[in-house]
Amino acid sequence: PSHIAVLTSGGDAPGMNAAIRAVVRSAVYYGKKITGIYNGYEGLINGNFQELNSRSVKYILNQGGTFLKSARSDRFRTPEGRKQAYDNLAKTGIDALIVIGGDGSFTGAKIFSEEYDFQVIGVPGTIDNDLYGTDFTIGYDTATNTAIECIDKIRDTASSHDRLFLVEVMGRDSGFIALRSAIAAGALDVIMPENDTTYDHLVETINRAGKNKKFSNIIVVAEGNKLGNIFEISNFLKGKFPHLDIKVTILGHLQRGGSPTVYDRVLASKLGVAAVEGLLIGRNKVMAGVMHQQIIYTPFEEAITRKAYINPELIRINKILTI
Ligand code: ATP
Repeated sequence: PSHIAVLTSGGDAPGMNAAIRAVVRSAVYYGKKITGIYNGYEGLINGNFQELNSRSVKYILNQGGTFLKSARSDRFRTPEGRKQAYDNLAKTGIDALIVIGGDGSFTGAKIFSEEYDFQVIGVPGTIDNDLYGTDFTIGYDTATNTAIECIDKIRDTASSHDRLFLVEVMGRDSGFIALRSAIAAGALDVIMPENDTTYDHLVETINRAGKNKKFSNIIVVAEGNKLGNIFEISNFLKGKFPHLDIKVTILGHLQRGGSPTVYDRVLASKLGVAAVEGLLIGRNKVMAGVMHQQIIYTPFEEAITRKAYINPELIRINKILTI
């Protein structure tokens, strides 16, 4: 390619800016023109383009969010919307696209790339870590760090009053944030989509904690868990344990913000460079990822449809440590 465009799409994630910076700087390094597209696929359709240079991306490495802004675009789901997007790219002389986003964004990228034979590479940017083809997605490490900072604070108040806190974390349909933050914060238990927790199991866990003289307890609840909504779980437990002071905290969008961790900045830098270098060697319809410390390119098809892998070892460790 001679002229690359970059956009961020779907939910924003800390480290997206670091990824944009890496894309822009490596494109410049390899002598390519580079254009930023604002507002994701909406901006692609509206022609919201801005040519960038290596200085355009100064002072953003440490900032959360994405300076190119992100968006959800219903128009990009339609052939007419994608035609308009293609016309804008062609008119500007852009011949390759880097999409930083999650599985929905890559689904759109794949359809577009097939429809117009257009070269596209994806960079995994989502706090949920729910993509196959990379051990970590950009933003996941920062989100879990934010979650445990909050849980640590909740623990201070929990232990002053013998309380049981149910803390809801994000993650959509996956328990990555929940499991990792439960281990890191020493939670009593974790309810997540992957572990099929039952009410009986919860009752047993809380009884055991009582017997072991654990009085301040935190249970991490993944938003996508299959047991139920956090208030339903809380009401059930209030019925079973009337003597316990049970509180609910939903961390929500706190987890999306903040300055990216070292891990996310380095990961975003690696993947931004890998995306540009992938384009240069002719890769197409793939997502750049890091598995076992190696850069790998996974076809969009697989990245979207295969289940991201929760390490069973983490589940095992968590079980041992919550005794
Ligand atoms: P996150 O997981 O962080 O929310 P995401 O990339 O999965 O990120 P989505 O809202 O699912 O976020 O998708 C982002 C955008 O991708 C959509 O708003 C839409 O424009 C485009 N997209 C998703 N699915 C399709 C599709 N089937 N066809 C065309 N475009 C799509």
